[in-house]
Amino acid sequence: MSAEPTHHVLILGGTTEARRLAEALSADPAYRVTTSLAGRVTSPVLPPGETRIGGFGGVTGLAAWTVAHDVTHVIDATHPFAERMSFNAWEAAALSGIPLLALRRPGWTPEPADDWTFADSLADAADRLPALGTRVFLTTGRMGLHTFAHLTDTWFLMRSVDPPAGPVPPHLEVLLARGPFTLSDERELLARHRIDVLVTKDSGGSATAPKLTAAREAGIPALVVRRPPVPDGVPEAGSVQAALTWLRTTA
Ligand code: NAP
Repeated sequence: MSAEPTHHVLILGGTTEARRLAEALSADPAYRVTTSLAGRVTSPVLPPGETRIGGFGGVTGLAAWTVAHDVTHVIDATHPFAERMSFNAWEAAALSGIPLLALRRPGWTPEPADDWTFADSLADAADRLPALGTRVFLTTGRMGLHTFAHLTDTWFLMRSVDPPAGPVPPHLEVLLARGPFTLSDERELLARHRIDVLVTKDSGGSATAPKLTAAREAGIPALVVRRPPVPDGVPEAGSVQAALTWLRTTA
């Protein structure tokens, strides 16, 4: 007879790290694991274990869900730019008393040959963009595309998993693709579209880093959007391994 799980981990997901963590935990009979997804992607790659899709209805909804489902640990493994959810998780943990960890991959750092300009937000990036180039590889996601819609003299290649909705720039080509991406593909993409500036969030991680290497090699500047603030005092792990260690040592 197999033993009942002694812990129920809720992973707030939407990232590669969230999926890797669910894979590791679902192989351990001590853990029941539920991954929560926002439901933004039409056909998400579902992790092993249980999944639930859609918002919780704010802080109180999240706190109530964790209590009702006997959650013992919450791991905020949302994307570094999913600002609202990280704050919701923090406030919900304060209400429920359930231990919370943030699993956040480290950001990228420029190398000497890089030509990076930093922006504080997508709107700031849109302001800075015309000074940097006119043929843009935009990788900041379809949700913020409207921020660039007023740039009528700029040509955009926008890569995203699902097609954009809402206002878009007039000169736009959409490339639907899901990472990881290889360096040779990124080199070819920049050359084929005669890209002269890359726009990216400081997402970190290896799955989408080759675009930065390709830009460096081609002498193309990158406009890098800085990460939003994170809630104070939430313990943080920079890797799936570190999150597993936290789980094993946090009652
Ligand atoms: P957000 O602004 O932080 O969150 C907005 C609302 O979406 C939250 O208040 C919550 O609704 C719901 N939500 C977000 N993440 C959720 C999750 N994992 N499970 C259930 N509900 C969730 O988030 P976002 O920037 O729109 O990102 C949405 C999701 O896409 C995140 O899970 C994130 O990991 C993933 N993602 C985001 C980016 C990005 O650049 N922002 C990039 C790649 C992947 P309620 O208040 O109703 O609970």
